[in-house]
Parts: sequence; structure tokens; C-alpha cells
Amino acid sequence: MATTKAERRRAPEGEPVIDTTKMSEGKRQALELAEESRDEGEGHRSFAGDIFMGRYDLSLIQPFPEQMPADALAGAEFLADVERFLLDHVDADQIDREGHIPDEVIAGLTRVGAFGIKIPEQYGGLGLSQTNYSRSAMLVGSHCASTVALISAHQSIGVPTPLKLFGTPEQKERFLPRLARGELSAFGLTEEEAGSDPARMTTRADLSEDGTHYVLSGEKLWCTNGTNAALLVVMAQTAPKVVNGRERPQISAFVVEADSPGIEILHRCQFMGHRALFNGVLRFTDVKVPAENLIWAEGRGLKVALSTLNTGRLTLPAAATGVAKRCLRIAREWASTREQWGAPIGRHAAVADMIARMAATTFAMESTVLLASALVDKGDADIRVEAAMCKMWGCEAGWRVINDAMQVRGGRGYETEESLRQRGVQATPIERFLRDARVHTIFEGSSEIMRLLLAREALDPHLAVAGEMLDSRRPMGRRARGAVRAGLFYARWYPARWWPFPSTGARGRHPTLNRHADACAAVSQRLARRLFHAMARHGAALEGQQVLLGRFVEIGAEVFAASATISRAQSLLDQGDGDGVVALADYFCRDALQRIELKFRGVTHNVDAPGYALAQEVLGGRYKWAEHGAAHPERR
Ligand SMILES: Cc1cc2nc3c(=O)[nH]c(=O)nc-3n(C[C@H](O)[C@H](O)[C@H](O)COP(=O)(O)OP(=O)(O)OC[C@H]3O[C@@H](n4cnc5c(N)ncnc54)[C@H](O)[C@@H]3O)c2cc1C
Repeated sequence: MATTKAERRRAPEGEPVIDTTKMSEGKRQALELAEESRDEGEGHRSFAGDIFMGRYDLSLIQPFPEQMPADALAGAEFLADVERFLLDHVDADQIDREGHIPDEVIAGLTRVGAFGIKIPEQYGGLGLSQTNYSRSAMLVGSHCASTVALISAHQSIGVPTPLKLFGTPEQKERFLPRLARGELSAFGLTEEEAGSDPARMTTRADLSEDGTHYVLSGEKLWCTNGTNAALLVVMAQTAPKVVNGRERPQISAFVVEADSPGIEILHRCQFMGHRALFNGVLRFTDVKVPAENLIWAEGRGLKVALSTLNTGRLTLPAAATGVAKRCLRIAREWASTREQWGAPIGRHAAVADMIARMAATTFAMESTVLLASALVDKGDADIRVEAAMCKMWGCEAGWRVINDAMQVRGGRGYETEESLRQRGVQATPIERFLRDARVHTIFEGSSEIMRLLLAREALDPHLAVAGEMLDSRRPMGRRARGAVRAGLFYARWYPARWWPFPSTGARGRHPTLNRHADACAAVSQRLARRLFHAMARHGAALEGQQVLLGRFVEIGAEVFAASATISRAQSLLDQGDGDGVVALADYFCRDALQRIELKFRGVTHNVDAPGYALAQEVLGGRYKWAEHGAAHPERR
């Protein structure tokens, strides 16, 4: 993100920029660890991050970054192989019913190179770009959720990505060829007590006295591919570090051979969807891990995990986009042929409304994923905000598309694919899609955690400018100097948020798209002002206003999605390749702007405070009477 000198001013080494002194011990620990592991983001300024500061610069993403011809060609060949294999050999319904991905499917995927898509060619992988990887996640995701999870747990979050980012040449040489050949990998972060809060992790890795190995002990929960992986990335607590007289937990990341003595699979987990995940609870008892398997350095494990997830996070919205594409087709065909009340159901306005939104949302989802992927491929952009927005917004939008598809299909949407087939009617997997997609807003950073992460990034420039002034840990003199600096910064910055928005660089842009670009710029200015007002009102307590911050984050994400859509629509138009693309983008932007208006209204007109108070009463048991009259077998 572009930062001014004042914005770059940070808290002293080892101290979080957020004042944690008034927080509970658990919250302080969680926040300090999150701050310490927070990826500061290197590279060029983030288009999406700037939206929150009222600096809307569409030229950062327009022209829409296109794939290089050679990359597109290599991707097209691979995707054609994958598609052929999926259609000929992968029975997604059977995989779902039997809860198992057959060995032949895994062998076939290995043959086409699906386990080494992003692994460089020198290590035996295909060396394809993030864009090609996202396109393949779209394709496989549109067919079988368990299969895309198998591939992505292996290489989006499994061993290849952390090694590519942080591994030594020796580690890459040792592990990447095995992974490209189809030996599976998994990612073990979550534990029973450590879900969204890794500070509660209890798995330990203690360095042996002679320094040759670590001794790993603990349990990991819900480790996808964990039941059949050859290599695991495991996060564990290593010796704590003392910072300012206080012990700081240190999380470190290791590559662990899954057949090491002392590793047990305690349980294979079963879920509502993704029925064939090789997902398990893994126990480690005094497992010897060679010291050279430490990734990066002690205490860097969470940073390894978070950096891995920055790009890894794009897989889920890519897969969700693939599903949305299938839903769109199924709903379109059904709504134009199914007649009720004297007309195809798509002619009834209520159904037409869903169809329009599904089409526009699907296009926007694809635009956000392709944009963020292209930014990864450029290699010099900070995409933390874009990736988190893709994950949060894309997975939530994808859920709404599937839900609408189910509504359009009516009872046939709710009926299983197999039952439809047995009745001899068109068999569609909407029921399975809905079950599979539900977890998208839970894993790889839940939607709530994505909102927290995005709010943190939205506030970052302000914390850098005004953090010192608001920080009760600082001496009065420092706070006063901080106040002067903040005053000088805001004296210039704030009035500029009221000036007519800067040009969005309209040359050659279609007038309709241009109008929406200007509207996005105006929203960005207004968002920055509102965020500033909220900071002035709540001060350091703003951090606790999750619902309010959530609205700001959602507005930013809608602007990002609309902007990606505008840019891609213009690009397709320029290539003479987008039949009706302006109407599609126009609908999406209008719809997004309506949602944005509602969220802005919610900033001042809401029931957040009474809602929070009521929730605490509910949690305290005051409304237990509202639960009477139902059977509660879980109480037996
Ligand atoms: C099918 C499946 C596969 C998975 N695969 C893997 C894997 O391969 N490797 C791995 O390490 N993990 C994996 N996970 C774990 C997954 O990443 C976690 O489920 C996720 O991190 C959330 O943790 P939790 O379920 O314990 O929820 P919790 O952290 O207990 O959260 C419960 C709820 O509270 C919310 N919440 C928590 N903290 C806050 C807060 N501070 N503010 C606001 N809301 C909050 C959450 O968003 C959520 O809605 C998998 C999970 C599933 C279901």
C-alpha cells in the first residue's frame, strides 16, 4: 500500500501497534501473536487496500491484467487434459456417496500433473502460473469438491507453497520432486483448542540437546489429506521468546514425514459435504523431526502459514466460481424450459431476478479471482487484501448463487443426484453443491476472521499515523508528539476526502462502465470518511466494534468486486469478446451499489449495541425458556 512518511511510523520493535493493555490475557495473546505474524506486505501498493483510504486508482487494475500468450497456451493444454480426465474418469456423485476418491482417480490426476501445477519444472512440476492454477481449481471445483480439496490441500496450503516461499534450496531439492510426483501433503495447524486462535496451540516441538532434531508432540484436528499424506507441514510451539520481560509464544513450521514413528491417525472425520476428504485427527508422540526440516526459522511458523494462505486463499473462491458457473447453466436451462402458471418459470419476475443476479455474480466472482491471480503472477504486488476479499466475498457470493440455483430447481434442487437419476429425470448435483459449499466460509480463515483481517488492513494506515496518540502505553510526551503528527496528516488528508473524486482515467472506457467507476471512486471517498469518523468516535475501542467494522469491510469488498468487473468487462469489450458484457457488468454494479447503500445506512442506523447486550443475556441463560418445547437429545 502506498504509505506516507507519517504512515510508516510504527510501534517499537516487538510491540504490537495496537494497545493491548486493557485486553483479557487470552485476547492479548491472540492479538499479539496475530500482530507479530502479520505479513506486512511487500511490493506495490494494493488497489483494494487503498479503497479504504479513499484513494481509488482504477489504473492499478486497468487494463485488466491478461495472461501472457505462452502461459495461456500451456494452461489451455493442461486444462483440456484435466477436463477430459474429469469427465471420463471422475464420478463425483459416486465419490460423494461412497466417501472415497478411488486410487485410479488419484493416479490419473498424478499423470496429468495435477499435484505439481505450481511446482517449478526444475523440480518435476508443471511450473504453471497462479492464473492457470486458479482456472484449474475452477474446473475441478465445478465437478467434484472432494477432488479439488485433495489437490488444493496438497499444494495451496500443503508442503509445496511454504517451501517455494521460504524453503532452503536443499529442502526444495529434497521434497518438491516427491510432491510433484503425487506423494500427497497436508497442512496441520488446527487443534481442538486452537481453531481461529493459534495462540492456544499446545503441540510442542522441543529442540534436542545436541540440536540435531526436534521432538514433536501433540494432536492436530481436521487435517485434510492427513490420513494419506506422505509429508505434512506441522505448526508447533517451540521455546518461547522473552520480549520486554514477557514470554511470547513462538510458533514454528516443520516438514514432517508422515510415516515417522510416533504418528497415529486417531480418527477419520466425516462432514456434511466434501464427503471423501482424507481428513483426520493426527497424534504426534515424541516424533523426531530433523532440525533441517524447520521451515525458515523458529518463531516464523505462523508467518509461514499466513503467507502461504495469502495465495492459497484464492483456491476456494476459484472453486466456488466453478460451481457458480455450473449452477448458472443448470438454472438457465431449467428456468427456460420448466413451465408453470402458463409460462417458463424464468418469465416470472421472481425467478428472473434470481437468474440475473446469478449471472452477474458469477461474472464478478470470476473477475475477482482472475484479477487477484494475475496480480500474484505479476509478482510485485501486495495482494493480501485482494486475496482475503476474494475469499470472504467470493465464498459468500458463491453460496448465494447455489442457494438461488436450488430455489430455481425447486424440489429437484433438493433431491439428490442419484435419486433424480433413478427416477429417470435430469440428474443435477445442486444438493451436493450446497452441502459442499457450506464449509467455504468456515475453513482457511472463516468469514469472521477474514473481516477482522481486512478491518486490520483497512485501519493500518490510520494506526500508523494515529496509533501512538491513542496508545495508553506511551508516555504523555510521545502521545502529544504523536497527536501533532496525526493532526498534520489529517489536516491534509481529511479535506481531500471531500473533494470531488479524482478522475478514474476514463479514456476509451465505455460510458456505462465509466459511470460505475466514478461511483466506486465516490464510495471509496465516503468509506474513508466514515471509517475516520468511526475512529474519532470510538478511538482504540473501534477494534471491538466487529459488526460496524464488518460493514466497512463489506463495502470495500463490494467496491473491489465492482471494480474487477468493470475492468474485465472493458477488457472483453476491447477484445470484441464480450457479448452483452456491459449489461452484465452494469447489473452487477447497480446491484452492488444498492447493497453498499444499505451498509452505509447500517453504519448509523443499527441495533448493534442492543444486539450485543441481548446476546450476552441469551448466553447467560436468561432466555432458556425460548428453547422449551423442542426435543433436546444432546442434553441426555
Ligand atoms: C472440512 C474441514 C477441513 C479442514 N482442513 C484443515 C486443514 O487441512 N488443516 C488445518 O489446519 N485445519 C483445517 N480445518 C480447520 C479450519 O481451518 C477451522 O475449522 C477454522 O480455522 C475455524 O476453527 P474452528 O472450527 O475451531 O472454529 P472456532 O475458531 O472455534 O470459531 C467458531 C466461530 O467463532 C468465530 N470466531 C472465532 N474467533 C472469532 C473472533 N475473534 N471474532 C469473531 N468471530 C470469531 C468463527 O468465525 C466461527 O464462526 C478444516 C476444517 C474443516 C471443517
